[in-house]
Amino acid sequence: MQWETVIGLEVHVQLATRSKIFSGASTAFGAEPNTQACAVDLGLPGVLPVLNEQAVAMAVQFGLAIHADIPEVSVFDRKNYFYPDLPKGYQTSQMYHPIVGAGEVEITLDDNTTKCIRIHHAHLEEDAGKSLHEDFHGMTGIDLNRAGTPLLEIVSEPDMRNAKEAAAYLKAIHSIVTYLGISDGNMAEGSMRCDVNVSVRPKGQEAFGTRAEIKNVNSFRFVERAIAFEVERQIELIEDGGKVVQETRLFDPERDETRSMRTKEEANDYRYFPCPDLLPVVLDQAYLEHLRSQLPELPADKRARFQTELGLSAYDASVLSASREMAEFFEEVHRVCGDAKQAANWVQGELAGALNRESLSIQNSPISAQQLGGLIGRVLDDTINGKAAKQVFQALWNGQGSSADEVIEAKGLKQVTDTGAIEAMIDQVIAESPAQVAQYRDSEPEKRGKMIGYFVGQVMKASRGTANPQQVNGVLKAKLDALL
Ligand code: ADP
Ligand code: MG
Repeated sequence: MQWETVIGLEVHVQLATRSKIFSGASTAFGAEPNTQACAVDLGLPGVLPVLNEQAVAMAVQFGLAIHADIPEVSVFDRKNYFYPDLPKGYQTSQMYHPIVGAGEVEITLDDNTTKCIRIHHAHLEEDAGKSLHEDFHGMTGIDLNRAGTPLLEIVSEPDMRNAKEAAAYLKAIHSIVTYLGISDGNMAEGSMRCDVNVSVRPKGQEAFGTRAEIKNVNSFRFVERAIAFEVERQIELIEDGGKVVQETRLFDPERDETRSMRTKEEANDYRYFPCPDLLPVVLDQAYLEHLRSQLPELPADKRARFQTELGLSAYDASVLSASREMAEFFEEVHRVCGDAKQAANWVQGELAGALNRESLSIQNSPISAQQLGGLIGRVLDDTINGKAAKQVFQALWNGQGSSADEVIEAKGLKQVTDTGAIEAMIDQVIAESPAQVAQYRDSEPEKRGKMIGYFVGQVMKASRGTANPQQVNGVLKAKLDALL
């Protein structure tokens, strides 16, 4: 039997507002437990929530970025359940009238083809607190700092068909929200968490199978691993005559498996009703247009422009547009040196390699985009050769000099193209290498091409890498052949 996997994701994005969604308490990460939860976050009697306008603006910008319908009116609902990290006994969320309606997100697959994933809707809600299970002598501690932090929950249609597509989708969402600056996208700190819905069905069957929901998967890699495990589990279960039950499961990265947490609750269990403390949110056209006018160029548009306008390959365009920082760095390098292909090569080659070796992100690159662009410019105008360029790169990386020109000057790396000077160096090398010259003379003509490498190496060495290699090659060949 051939099986097909069906995946839908619910991604929770923590919005980068300074204060909480319904209170003025700070959202900063990592403070002492319970120092950033005010009376509203605690749900104390007599307090009223006030909606954070910034959270609304961020949600709408996301909606505009994915070309979604933005309904004129959205409504907050109470989702009632009991849990120690939820002091109010309900979570304020949006069930029936979310702020962002249907839209779509373009994902890029490994072979650089793209696919559209439909978004069912996105809604605003507040985060809960956190249970702390360590260091409380058998008791559980509660930290309410996170309670009331604004979240945008983005719900996809079940449009993904394998783990790679799900990871690509998550990366696309990450890229959109960080381009927009509406989230720091820090997955390790929980700024983006994802519930993965997985089912399988016989290939060719139209109806979906029963799904399991895997909660709180918090890295691109874990998404792939959780799905791989879950798909295998479901297929095995069905092939052994069993049935998948609709339930909530937890991914355990240590053991690389998912475990049952609870059977899935239905909407009824939550007794949703409109929150009487909050007015419906009404957005007029002028407000939407104002937010639209502030949208930056988005990843999919940038990727397309890098290909059509700058002539980059699909691969280069996709790598260089993956993050806003990467894209802006590349664009600055390109602006300074004027050659997109060279800028792309240097950013993805020499620079990416060096950053990787030292585990640095591009924001922390010791060499700036202006410096790299300047360096490439000097290669393009033949001031230095490729070998010297690597030395200049290293020097700038190490902070020895503020610009390529300064390093080239200080280290005397200017390419020697003066024919007289090159000829003099060649004559000297030939004079000092009688054995190699004899060998050259005595070898088969077709082997001489290879042997010339030795002489080129010696001349380059004598010039401390500054001679123009093509020129050296040409003159050497003529001089050696004249000796035959
Ligand atoms: P609920 O309201 O119970 O959470 P939804 O219908 O809103 O369920 O779906 C939640 C998520 O599950 C969505 O991302 C959706 O795409 C996905 N989903 C729904 N049905 C399936 C299925 N059979 N297989 C995989 N994913 C599914
Ligand atoms: Mg849901």
